[in-house]
Amino acid sequence: MKQYDYLIVGAGLFGAVFAHEATRKGRTCLVIDRREHIAGNIYCEKIEGIHVHKYGAHIFHTSSREIWDYVNQFAEFNNYINSPVASYKDELYNLPFNMNTFSKMWNIKTPNEAKEIIEKQKAGLNISEPKNLEEQALSLVGTDIYEKLIKGYTEKQWGRDCRELPAFIIKRLPLRFIYDNNYFNDRYQGIPIGGYNGIVEKLLEGSDVLLNTDYFDYIKTHQNAAKKTVYTGMIDEYFNFQFGHLEYRTVRFETEVLDEENYQGNAVVNYTEREIPYTRIIEHKHFEFGTQPKTVISREYSSEWKPGIEPYYPINDEKNSALFRQYQQLAEKEENVIFGGRLGNYQYYDMDKVIEAALDCAKRELVC
Ligand code: UDP
Repeated sequence: MKQYDYLIVGAGLFGAVFAHEATRKGRTCLVIDRREHIAGNIYCEKIEGIHVHKYGAHIFHTSSREIWDYVNQFAEFNNYINSPVASYKDELYNLPFNMNTFSKMWNIKTPNEAKEIIEKQKAGLNISEPKNLEEQALSLVGTDIYEKLIKGYTEKQWGRDCRELPAFIIKRLPLRFIYDNNYFNDRYQGIPIGGYNGIVEKLLEGSDVLLNTDYFDYIKTHQNAAKKTVYTGMIDEYFNFQFGHLEYRTVRFETEVLDEENYQGNAVVNYTEREIPYTRIIEHKHFEFGTQPKTVISREYSSEWKPGIEPYYPINDEKNSALFRQYQQLAEKEENVIFGGRLGNYQYYDMDKVIEAALDCAKRELVC
């Protein structure tokens, strides 16, 4: 039987970028995936002519010219700019937190007025060094915005009290004292025209791909499939959960086709109050300026991960980070296996960071 240079477990972005780089350098790759399709969580399904982001909305954004040029080899990107709207009870606010949000919240006009209100709200709280997400949020935007736009949403999304979550999660969002609703600070942004699947298809050209193939079954009968393995699945599963389960958040989507052209007027509407069970509604056509007669929406519900369902977000709190370090120590000793991607590295990665990590890994690995 043919022995490949690399067995790549997972046909998502990390695996596909690595496969592309390895093939370019003349290495042979076999890519396997449990799912019946390639592209991991950036997979899109076409419904009513609309690319539906089946595993949650993915908006490509990066500050790196190198990564932007890299993805643009595989697709042309449109000029979509993410500008979510937050719905709190009967009020609507622009995100991220910027002058549009502040002027609606406090009926003010100038940055100085906004800063003054935030300072006043922060004053009594005595937070010098924010230790958790709540303290971080309060010290950035004060109590009103925290209570209306952050607390409920975050606790729904993570299923944990904001005081138990790391501060960095909220630092992902820009905070601006200008009237600018762009959700990202990055220089480059867009959605690939034709969807994400095409990018991954191109990245996998030249590799052999086996779908519906579970690594743990496959390896029992194919121990010599490759000289090395690139494993992008859950790191704790690789080691048979021997130190216990890492925790993840999972998301469930209720997707509906509606017989109307435009349901919510925006691709992303966040529901920030605790009482509404979903975190957001995605109207997929607006990612690509769709003009189809129908529309497809997905309500997003967040819950704790259990074995057998898809893991989405790693929970980088103290307990899980310590557990991950234990697995990482085992991983370092695992000869001929490279761990990568969101699940292999247990990291809350954006797509550009996944590509960057895969390119770095390929650079180290494919030296000649
Ligand atoms: N967040 C919030 N209110 C919002 C949107 C986001 O409080 O309306 C917080 C929340 O804690 C969330 C974090 O910001 O976990 C990061 O949000 P982001 O949109 O980056 O999450 P993702 O799109 O990766 O799920």
